[in-house]
Amino acid sequence: MQKRKLVIIGSGPAGYTAAIYASRADLQPLLFEGFYSGTAGGQLMTTTDVENYPGFPEGIQGPELMLLCRKQAERFGTEILTEDVTKVDFSSRPFKVIGSKTEVEAEAIIVATGATARRLDIEGANEGEFWQKGVTACAVCDGAAPIFRDKDLYVVGGGDSACEEAIFLTKFGSKVYLVHRRDELRASKIMAERAIKHPKIEVLWDSVVSKVEGDQVVQSVTIQNVKTKEEEKRPAGGLFFAIGFDPNTGFLEGQLELRETGYLKVNDGGTNTSVEGVFAAGDVHDHEYRQAVTAAGSGCMAALDAERWLSSQGLID
Ligand code: NAP
Repeated sequence: MQKRKLVIIGSGPAGYTAAIYASRADLQPLLFEGFYSGTAGGQLMTTTDVENYPGFPEGIQGPELMLLCRKQAERFGTEILTEDVTKVDFSSRPFKVIGSKTEVEAEAIIVATGATARRLDIEGANEGEFWQKGVTACAVCDGAAPIFRDKDLYVVGGGDSACEEAIFLTKFGSKVYLVHRRDELRASKIMAERAIKHPKIEVLWDSVVSKVEGDQVVQSVTIQNVKTKEEEKRPAGGLFFAIGFDPNTGFLEGQLELRETGYLKVNDGGTNTSVEGVFAAGDVHDHEYRQAVTAAGSGCMAALDAERWLSSQGLID
């Protein structure tokens, strides 16, 4: 089994930034970037224009930004494996990381596996039905696609993401309906007001989507009022889930403490997890900011924390 000072689990802005810092500090990190297109490179791989990442005044495509970060990590000696990590053992040191092909022992670990947008199991909305044929979990990634132009679009959720996505979709759809299961939005006051006051947005209170139908792509959704149980089939060009995210922690099998929300617990606003020598970076612990730039910042913090910890243990000079 090969041995490393530092293994980074996960790619995306957090993992790659951790790798850039760690490799420049000569920690010769090994990075598991994930295998599937949805995991390698993280959520930005399914985004189009990124306009709020500093340094790119004209904006940059999400996948391009991630490829540049990846190259930068490799330039300083990060070794990247296109594998998922399936199992870890943090019960004793050195820690063990088991990938789909590679097993490795490591003195320190950075977990940067991000989070995945939640989906609903609605008739017609699953894989093999209209998933990715008008049903998606990322308006910002997919909203500009031609199939959504000048159509009635439906966003499910009542939080900040749902409001933000509904407002974003008004650029493309003829009208945007926010479908919320209660009679009050969870979103912050300012976001809720912006959505409610928007002339192209209508909130469907106490409502859920019960069915999606179409031909090649989505053509209609059925909305059910949860109080009266009445159902109405309405024309629709797209359905967007904006009901929160699940941090990607399954492979940890309970070896690190989580918060009630399921996100990794870190101490004192830093990157230390419940196991000494294991650090967390990016959306896997941050449910609040969830931005590429904050994830990158937290990747930097995790690499500096890992370096200091390795040094304090006498494991590096
Ligand atoms: P969230 O705040 O957890 O909201 C999720 C929404 O989805 C809730 O309204 C919830 O309904 C609804 N929902 C959950 N499960 C559902 C189900 N099975 N069926 C129907 N509806 C369901 O998630 P979020 O909006 O992604 O926000 C996450 C965090 O990021 C928050 O802290 C938020 O403030 C932050 N954020 C900030 C901004 C910004 O400031 N610009 C933008 C995006 C996110 P209930 O309300 O009934 O529970």
